[in-house]
Amino acid sequence: MANNENQLDGQRCSFCGEPIQNVGILFSGMGGAAICDQCIERGYESLLENNLIGETPASETSTLNRDGLLKPAEIKAFLDQYVIGQDRAKKSLSVAVYNHYKRLMHAEDKSVDDVEIDKSNIIMVGETGTGKTLLARTIAKMLKVPFTIVDATVLTEAGYVGEDVEGILTRLLQAADYDVAQAERGIVFIDEIDKIARKSDNPSITRDVSGEGVQQALLKILEGTVVNVPPQGGRKHPDQKFIQVNTANILFICGGAFDGIDKRIARRLNTHAVGYDTPETAHLDNERLLQYVTPQDLRSFGLIPEIVGRMPVLTCLDPLDRATLRKILTEPKNAIIKQYVKLFELDGVALTFDDAVLDYIVDKALEFRLGARGLRSICEAVMGDVMFETPSEERHEVRITLDYAKERLEKAGFGKGSK
Ligand code: ADP
Repeated sequence: MANNENQLDGQRCSFCGEPIQNVGILFSGMGGAAICDQCIERGYESLLENNLIGETPASETSTLNRDGLLKPAEIKAFLDQYVIGQDRAKKSLSVAVYNHYKRLMHAEDKSVDDVEIDKSNIIMVGETGTGKTLLARTIAKMLKVPFTIVDATVLTEAGYVGEDVEGILTRLLQAADYDVAQAERGIVFIDEIDKIARKSDNPSITRDVSGEGVQQALLKILEGTVVNVPPQGGRKHPDQKFIQVNTANILFICGGAFDGIDKRIARRLNTHAVGYDTPETAHLDNERLLQYVTPQDLRSFGLIPEIVGRMPVLTCLDPLDRATLRKILTEPKNAIIKQYVKLFELDGVALTFDDAVLDYIVDKALEFRLGARGLRSICEAVMGDVMFETPSEERHEVRITLDYAKERLEKAGFGKGSK
């Protein structure tokens, strides 16, 4: 408690010896001892330096406590800041994530009643580069939970060349700094899940070690089990100590392009991907058949029924059209163009792009079928020289014009075929 000035006349800080007049505030303790604000500050800094106190632990900053758990609409609003369009996927994800973490809290608070809520693992179907990974990553960022991305194509059945399915959990543990409790409420994004589809409907003599075998191995961790995880990943080694991880509360989000699935959907809907409508199917959007995807289509594509059953939330992403690509360039919180402007601003330079340049960049991304991923490489090609030269010049303004962008892209080999 800060002392009253009259009582403290002549008192000093017991640590640095400064008289009360020279310090901001003096706190008195037992036996006449006192400490000044500056000594408290120095003590605090020393604790920070020695890592005796630090940033608030993830468990406390995490938005997973009951009061802080965001509602589905709030989760979607957060996603809107980073991901353009994909409203359908955002809504399904928001609800699934909300339910998942509500389920987790329910499990911690069993007294409420004893209805057990199933896990809501998610599967997203959509062309490559449409934002599946971005959505999963953004959710993890929002929840401040450990997050890892694994590529299903590297997974093989235990004992074969490739990575064991347990390796997924090793990565999650690493992302959680080996804090098992944190890892157990983390998110795993399994990319290219379509690549482990069963290769054919006929059981063959040769084993399908990277297809159905992996699906079988994935099954138990998707559902929830205690897995012995090798801390360093890779192949299990007899004398390597295992860490036990319970996957019951880990949220699995899977993504895949499922090339050709639209034809299966069309067949099921009794229409054609290219469009001959029957009266029953005339209302369907033949350009975007993916939106009608059902678990049945995933099974016919080659996912085993048990796997499909363990990912009850199925959603799809739309292909990115011109208008969406144009927004991706400038609108997300960390949009590519905003990043360049910021980089220049740090050097005291005001960077502007003519609107025609942004349209041109989108045209090129479409022309070269590069999707959203291509926007960055096209921008780099436009900006390479100007980023090299500007810091050594006395310029305070840089304006990127269409002529300049065209010239740069042509030099970089993007120009061919341009209008
Ligand atoms: P996918 O996982 O579907 O293959 P990604 O999520 O990795 O695609 O997207 C690749 C990049 O493209 C992202 O890093 C992001 O910059 C951009 N991107 C893709 N879709 C969107 C979107 N809907 N909104 C904003 N950026 C997007």
